[in-house]
Amino acid sequence: MSIAKQLYQLQEVDLEIESHERDIKQVTSQLGESESVILARKKLDSGQQHQAEVTRQQQSLEWEIDDITSKVAKAEEELYSGRIQNPKELGNLQHEVDLLKDKRGQLEERDLELMEQAELAVRTISKLEGELGSLEAEWQTRQRELSARLGELKTGLSNLKHKRGLIAEDIDPQAVEVYQELKKHKGTAVARVEQGICRGCRITLPVTELQRTRSGELVRCSSCSRILFST
Ligand SMILES: [Zn+2]
Repeated sequence: MSIAKQLYQLQEVDLEIESHERDIKQVTSQLGESESVILARKKLDSGQQHQAEVTRQQQSLEWEIDDITSKVAKAEEELYSGRIQNPKELGNLQHEVDLLKDKRGQLEERDLELMEQAELAVRTISKLEGELGSLEAEWQTRQRELSARLGELKTGLSNLKHKRGLIAEDIDPQAVEVYQELKKHKGTAVARVEQGICRGCRITLPVTELQRTRSGELVRCSSCSRILFST
């Protein structure tokens, strides 16, 4: 096998290795927490906090209502006990009872509003829990797929590296060095020759150069310096 062909094969494997490495990077970047799951979890958290706050307000309101109810009961008991005879005093007490009842009426209205808010909060939470659940399930499936893909890519990469080692072993080390230098500076080290044209720089090669490439020796394009590979 000509040295140009060997280097061309090395280049083919190198390209496959690079493509595997790019894919591994890409798949790795997709592994891990998902933005949409994090966002859904945050929404659920704040929904639950809101529900807790509404419950807390309801409790303290209900305690306030109970407190007023017992004050009213006490005042009415006093009012109808017959112990108070003074009309002015009776009038004041009655007024106090009326005020307490007004206040209680307002608190009860507020309590109804809070009950509605609490019901809404329960519905919202259950909706958010559903959303989070399906996002998490979707995410887990995707993670499993990505992990499997990553495993395949890593195995593929290790096989390719082994294959590269075997190919490189058989090539003159100096030629491999030339190849590496060109690869570093030009990206592609070996250019195919097709219909007398260097595919690396698209120049038409002189006849003498073409003949030399067919002889099997290592020939470099006089224009772009790439190693020429004539099939
Ligand atoms: Zn060229």
